[in-house]
Amino acid sequence: MTPRWITARTTRNNFVRHLVANLLSSSALLVFCAGTALAASGDIYLGDSLRQLGLHELEQKKGDPAEAERHGAKGGIGLYAERNRDYLWVDGIKLYLNETVGLAHGKLTVSRLDYEKILVPLYWKLPTPMPGTKRIIIDPGHGGKDPGKQNAALKYNEKAATLDTAIRLKLILDKLGFDVILTREKDVAIELDQRAPMAIKNKADLFVSLHYNGGAKGDTNSSGIETYCLSPAGQRSTNAAGGKADTSTEAGNRFDAFNLQLAWSIQRKIIAGTGAEDRGVRRARFAVLRTLNCPGVLVEGGFISSKSEGAQIANPAYRQKIAEAVAAGISDYAQRLQSKQ
Ligand SMILES: [Zn+2]
Repeated sequence: MTPRWITARTTRNNFVRHLVANLLSSSALLVFCAGTALAASGDIYLGDSLRQLGLHELEQKKGDPAEAERHGAKGGIGLYAERNRDYLWVDGIKLYLNETVGLAHGKLTVSRLDYEKILVPLYWKLPTPMPGTKRIIIDPGHGGKDPGKQNAALKYNEKAATLDTAIRLKLILDKLGFDVILTREKDVAIELDQRAPMAIKNKADLFVSLHYNGGAKGDTNSSGIETYCLSPAGQRSTNAAGGKADTSTEAGNRFDAFNLQLAWSIQRKIIAGTGAEDRGVRRARFAVLRTLNCPGVLVEGGFISSKSEGAQIANPAYRQKIAEAVAAGISDYAQRLQSKQ
């Protein structure tokens, strides 16, 4: 009676072993049955599925809406969810889902795909063999004839900010013992479809593309930081304009679990390090991520077009903060992989 959604996952062997052990207790059997009760809708209970991953439901906090749940594990990473949101908060960081959080019989539900692609890799076990973490390709966005987004009032543009941040990041990562290569070291143009091949050629273990955001024309208020990973196979992109907006499968999808882990680790450190607005871990089929043969993310380190955030980005001390936070996220990711081996 093993349901299809469990056998289909990438971590199937270890997970099934874990599940069989759980099934030996009658309470787990009840949970298991409850989890399959929603099979027709394609959704599963959030609480029951998280219990399979070792979390338990916590008391709501004052001010939480009625249709919200908190889950946690001793010494582990807590999760908060609200009905009708298309994201969860994992340790306080927004993590976008493929489907909105639902409700059935008074309990929150999530889609099986979101459970498999987001919750299992974050809370349970990453697939093996795991990729390395030594050689990092940093990709400063834009360059040469392509300035990227701009702040006209400050006469500062994205290509200068990304290159400066990348150089700072390389210095920090070098000191931490990583082997770092930049896709560009000066103000030159590199086509989008040339960036991932540079990672492949250099046998990268992970790839981080650095960008700064821009609002619509005349928008000097939008602000906040977001980190993108490649949309998992079968899932829609958070940003419909972010590359191919279909649900295609790309070469980079072999690393879905690691892409998510890397994106979440970086977003968490960057929000903690800067205090910027958290715009969440998002998914897109960006050209620089699609064909990678290693885990990769694209960081939008704030709105250069914003009056206040743009002024911060134009400040070298703030770019140093961003570089330090991205380096901390990469270190955190490397340690997580080692601890899960
Ligand atoms: Zn950009």
